[in-house]
Amino acid sequence: MSLVLHGIGVSRGIAIGKAHIIVRGSIEVLESAIPTLLIEDEVARFLKAIETARLQLSSIRDRIPEGTRVDIAAFIDTHMLMLDDATIVNTPVELMREKGCNAEWALKLQRDAVVGVFEQMNDPYLRTRRDDVDHVINRIQRILQATSQGDIRSEDSLQGAIVLTDDLTPAETVLLEHQGASAFATEYGGPLSHSAILARSVQLPAIVGAHSLQRYLRDGDEIILDGMQGILIADPDQDILDHYRERKAQETRRRAELARLAHTPAVTLDNHAIKLMVNIELPEDIEALNRENTSGIGLYRTEFLFMNRPSLPDEEEQYLSYTRVINALNGKPLTIRTLDVGADKEVGDSGSGGRGRCNNPALGLRAIRLCLKNHSLFCPQLRAILRASAHGPVRLMIPMLSNTRELHQVLTLIRDAENALQREGLTFDPNIQIGGMIEVPAAAISAADFARHLDFLSIGTNDLIQYTLAIDRVDDEVTYLYDPLHPSVLQLIKMVIDAGKDSGIPVAMCGEMAGDVRYTRLLLGMGLTEFSMHHSVMQEVKRVINNSSISELAPRVAALLEAGDADRIVGAIDSLNSSLN
Ligand code: PEP
Ligand code: MG
Repeated sequence: MSLVLHGIGVSRGIAIGKAHIIVRGSIEVLESAIPTLLIEDEVARFLKAIETARLQLSSIRDRIPEGTRVDIAAFIDTHMLMLDDATIVNTPVELMREKGCNAEWALKLQRDAVVGVFEQMNDPYLRTRRDDVDHVINRIQRILQATSQGDIRSEDSLQGAIVLTDDLTPAETVLLEHQGASAFATEYGGPLSHSAILARSVQLPAIVGAHSLQRYLRDGDEIILDGMQGILIADPDQDILDHYRERKAQETRRRAELARLAHTPAVTLDNHAIKLMVNIELPEDIEALNRENTSGIGLYRTEFLFMNRPSLPDEEEQYLSYTRVINALNGKPLTIRTLDVGADKEVGDSGSGGRGRCNNPALGLRAIRLCLKNHSLFCPQLRAILRASAHGPVRLMIPMLSNTRELHQVLTLIRDAENALQREGLTFDPNIQIGGMIEVPAAAISAADFARHLDFLSIGTNDLIQYTLAIDRVDDEVTYLYDPLHPSVLQLIKMVIDAGKDSGIPVAMCGEMAGDVRYTRLLLGMGLTEFSMHHSVMQEVKRVINNSSISELAPRVAALLEAGDADRIVGAIDSLNSSLN
């Protein structure tokens, strides 16, 4: 009889093959006392393990083929850099000397401390960076314990296999791809983990969070893995196999079609050109993007430049980073969002102003609120963005505006920075476009007021939905309430699009909703013509756009919004999308 297991589908695609189970078991660490005389030998053993870890990673890095679609090396580099980090190297050494304990125990104590800090973070992206710490520390622990159980060796052939294991590091994901695995499923990990991101980028079907898979599945079982639905089926009968073989063939045809689309423009059937832009987080993200036909970058989340480091980047470092992205864009516009950090995303004492944690970080001093309180954090960034604008088209975008007073304060600071640069003889674009993110319901309702003073608006649906529906976007307990189709959310989005039209300024959307094909036709029908998203979903969205007609969608969407009833909205959207397969 067939057995079905569920997890979170993180990379779509269907694989049919034999299970290859990698059992690792948890790493058990025991404390042992080391006599003072021998402690330096123990320290040396620890430092040697760090060196071995570095050699292992560098050998995996060397095997990354030229021209891979993502900058896989950057993921491995992150782990190699962590091997130089004082938190991972120096603190355990200090602990060993202080407590007279073994290296494994000191490393475990330090791991628990670091992971505790990550777990306090409200930001889902940063919380998953906790996995990086675990992956690096586990690698060192395994070297210290001289265990190779569960190692994926480069000589293993995994041709066509579906790999099932507890968790994968980015380096292991690279190895799997290399060795011909057709898919993987893990017991742990989330959709934002590096392994999930890598799987999507190299188009390896994948599921994470399939909790009991090692309990129910055996090596060699015949398995179907559906990376979109997050389903694993063991011992499928003939009907199920035939069904999935057909879906796999459809998926192959769909991928070929998407690959052909990469160089076609996004134009609707009734000839409306739609702007598709990309969201990036680090300057390195730009490399994957030049292979796609984009209208530029619609959201550069600059806060990632400020995180995971002991000191803040100064004006010069920021200026060089932004300029690097501008140069790589060859004349396409770069939308730089000013710092969006706050009580939930700490950037060190100078960033938070030394405040403790507040009870409602999402409602607290974050993003533009924090920047307006902390000019020494904000003004160097404004100067860096302005100076970078001398090198190519830059749009400066302000996050989390809730009233126009904030906007006027920012505009004054920008004018002051421009005057100062002028006095210093430094160049910038005097006509730099300034836009605002509409993420707070109050700002959506007052979008017309904002539009009067800005060159463009961009709807941040991730926050707009969180604040409209009063649900913390990183709290798993209330995820079920997160609903982009809630009638109130749709009304607010429509108000912003209309306000932009009435004022003659462009309106984009850069939240996750913009990259979700289920909503593309709805948004087109609402009048949205600029979408910004992760590059990996762009061709899918384009495919929907190129198969849609705005003149047909607009009246249907207007009727759907009139209905105001959640269930009818869902039904109407299914019917809008029904001609797509
Ligand atoms: C948003 O809120 O939709 C958005 C794009 O910003 P972030 O996800 O970075 O908060
Ligand atoms: Mg936001």
